[in-house]
Amino acid sequence: MATDLIIIGGGPAGYVAAIRSAQLGKKVVCVEKERVGGTCLNWGCIPTKALLESAEMFRKMSQGAEAYGVKVQDVTADWEAMVARSRAVSDRLCNGIEFLFKKHGIERLQGTASIPNPGEVEVTAPDGSVSRLQASKILIATGARTREIPAFPIDGKRIIGSKQALTLPKAPASMLVIGSGAIGSEFSYIYSCLGCKVTVVEALSNLLPNEDDEVCKAMERSFKKRGITCLVGAKVESVTSSESGVKAHITRPGKPDTDVEAEICLVAVGVMPVTPEAPGLQLTDRGFVQVNERYETNLPGVYAVGDCIGGIMLAHAASFEATQAVEGMFLPGTTPKKPTLVPGCTYCHPQVASVGKRERELKKDGIAYKVGKFPFQAIGRAVAAGETEGFVKLLFGAEHGELLGAHIVGEGATELIATTQLGISSELTDEDLHAMIFAHPTLSEAIHEATLAADGVPIHA
Ligand code: NAD
Repeated sequence: MATDLIIIGGGPAGYVAAIRSAQLGKKVVCVEKERVGGTCLNWGCIPTKALLESAEMFRKMSQGAEAYGVKVQDVTADWEAMVARSRAVSDRLCNGIEFLFKKHGIERLQGTASIPNPGEVEVTAPDGSVSRLQASKILIATGARTREIPAFPIDGKRIIGSKQALTLPKAPASMLVIGSGAIGSEFSYIYSCLGCKVTVVEALSNLLPNEDDEVCKAMERSFKKRGITCLVGAKVESVTSSESGVKAHITRPGKPDTDVEAEICLVAVGVMPVTPEAPGLQLTDRGFVQVNERYETNLPGVYAVGDCIGGIMLAHAASFEATQAVEGMFLPGTTPKKPTLVPGCTYCHPQVASVGKRERELKKDGIAYKVGKFPFQAIGRAVAAGETEGFVKLLFGAEHGELLGAHIVGEGATELIATTQLGISSELTDEDLHAMIFAHPTLSEAIHEATLAADGVPIHA
């Protein structure tokens, strides 16, 4: 049976495309140079969440247990064991993808792929041997990699990226984190839980600057309370490293310059696309693969999805694009969609999650809206859990009351966000949410209360 589709890359874009194509009865080959699972399962979302759980458990046991009537003594953090658990979680999930490939009859080839011509993929295996494969369709899903700062490149020891941050030989006593997007914020929190003195430097005027402004401010307050030094609107001019650590010179317009010394410097200033060698393949000026509305590149029969095409660079957006592209290729009459309503989740404490419009976007677009905001401190379930930090903020259209955006800071935010996402995608209004019975006692009651608050009638405030 001839191969229908060759996929380059086995991350959340590539492996999902492979499974979906196999479900549609297609013969698929997936070429991956490392282990399937991509950054997400190997070096991103999954192992960081595993490490976060260890850090949180340590924080709760060492800093908060007594408040719950639990006396614990001599709590210590075993960094090596934490890293080992994180790697084991990653292994388990990557093995799971291998299993799914076998189950679906997907052929996996290890090697680095290039596209010498449309319809043809050349694979260089780890032993240097080269093979060529043919298929009428090729899907590029090669992802992205850490963006470095040229003035002080990652050396893997003193100046590191997120990959090294997952497997440091020992937990550092101090860390300078450059960038406060998801990676910078998550690692700042994880390491601070373990007693590391963290300084986070963000070039823009807020931490997590992509979030709604009130969320950014809440995050900054929380980080500062936790002892994390936050330097926003700041530029790291230089980082010099020595045997014992790093020294950074930081400038802030209108404020005095400052120097920060730390054992380790984590660079978390975003990612850049990874693209395969493919003569004639059209890239954008920022180096992303250029695709049309069907995810097809300028090379006939060559498609691309995921981080390598830019846009919303999140695993779940990549998987969505993969499914859409494959269905567009193989299901006649299908019009692939682009990701529009994509939730974002950041895993620190409190968690941050959002979907839909931010307040500043509504203002900019001149859309009349009303705001409903409700704090977790007035939610029984949150008080019982001792997790009262944060709020639910909902944005509704002023005229029709349609839900436009949801911004949640607090315990369980990353799970709660799905309810609001369903509300936006189903075009629910404040009246619909008023009429809904939310289970008591749950954190989700904050969504109900925020809806009531938008109309000035919250019950518990
Ligand atoms: P990012 O783009 O989300 O954040 C980078 C931050 O660095 C931005 O706030 C930016 O303003 C700041 N910055 C850039 N240059 C700087 C400089 N020279 N000095 C100080 N600050 C600077 O990128 P990231 O956090 O590195 O994450 C990379 C990718 O991985 C993103 O697409 C992200 O969404 C994804 N990711 C997602 C999750 C999650 O969903 N929980 C977790 C980790 C990573």
